[in-house]
Amino acid sequence: MPRVLTFCPRTDEPVSTCLRMHQAELTALTETRFFRCTGCGEVHEWVGATAWLERAPIERLIA
Ligand SMILES: [Zn+2]
Repeated sequence: MPRVLTFCPRTDEPVSTCLRMHQAELTALTETRFFRCTGCGEVHEWVGATAWLERAPIERLIA
């Protein structure tokens, strides 16, 4: 299962949310989730709209 990535608001770098799920689950996700950032060590929140799966096209990372 691919990892879920989102942006770290501190470093603007993609970071792993430590979760793995399929695209259908990510799309259906409505509640806010929290994770300990591996980039800066702080706890960030993310929602389905601000996250993507690791195997998604690179264009999504730059957009
Ligand atoms: Zn961070």
